[in-house]
Amino acid sequence: MTDILRPGEIQGPGTPPPFLKLPDPGSLFTRRAERFQVLAQDHPVEAFLLFMAALAQAQHRLVETLTGTAPDTLPRPTPRGLPFPAADLPDIRHWQPGLRSLLEEIEPSAPAPTRAAIRRLRSMSGPDLVAMAREILGGHGSAPDPAAAPLLAAALQAHWSVWVGQTAMEDIPAQTEATHCPVCGSAPVAGVIHSGGGAHGRRTLHCSLCQTQWHLERLKCSHCHATTDLEYPGLEDHHPGVRAEVCGHCHSYLKLISLETDPRADPVADHLATLTLDLLLGEEGYAPNGINLLLYLEEAPATTP
Ligand SMILES: [Zn+2]
Ligand SMILES: [Zn+2]
Repeated sequence: MTDILRPGEIQGPGTPPPFLKLPDPGSLFTRRAERFQVLAQDHPVEAFLLFMAALAQAQHRLVETLTGTAPDTLPRPTPRGLPFPAADLPDIRHWQPGLRSLLEEIEPSAPAPTRAAIRRLRSMSGPDLVAMAREILGGHGSAPDPAAAPLLAAALQAHWSVWVGQTAMEDIPAQTEATHCPVCGSAPVAGVIHSGGGAHGRRTLHCSLCQTQWHLERLKCSHCHATTDLEYPGLEDHHPGVRAEVCGHCHSYLKLISLETDPRADPVADHLATLTLDLLLGEEGYAPNGINLLLYLEEAPATTP
């Protein structure tokens, strides 16, 4: 089966590109931490990006712990539909111990407001933690506690990537126009333009939760599938590897991260280092298709009647 590329598998030249690439959590978060550190240098929000580097490193350590977990204690994939749906939060016993160890890991490098958020998370009851997790997994990009939500989201990302990366799943039917993750149903954080090998020039969307990548052909809106009236603004010299695919039909956009421009780029890290582009597009009335679970607004965005 060539439709799914599993962790550790390398796509050879001449191999048909897979529809789906499952996450490789053993290397993903440590590479992301390194990328955050590179992006932080001389950046206007240097301290924020350095803390994100520490958070990604804490996710890596959590993944290392989880990787030793006996497979029969992991949540099991659902037999039909999405294998690990974000809408079906596994029992808290599967992720609360990992959340606690991530909070312990991150505390020494946390700024004062985040240390206060760590204390709040530690004192929350199980039902309240579950409620916050469900809010995060709902993918609205807002949370009642925007300082605490990224920490819980980081723990959920690490768990989901391990569950998805380590569990044998039945083959997932190839989809040609999926706007949401075929494994967990979450929105993408960004698109990635690949470089080198059989995937050169291909675009995948990168899941904001489980870190799976799936194929969506280029020059196509990731929300309404329009193939005309698309524009690709960027920040030019400030960050040439990131552009937005802006759709004039549905007035939405998704950031595209080019590995052709910088092979070290990472969809989550480069997204957070280019929030100026989101601000500019927001001022022009465009709504994001992507969501970054490590960043929250205080209030829910206004909904149209
Ligand atoms: Zn996913
Ligand atoms: Zn569109």
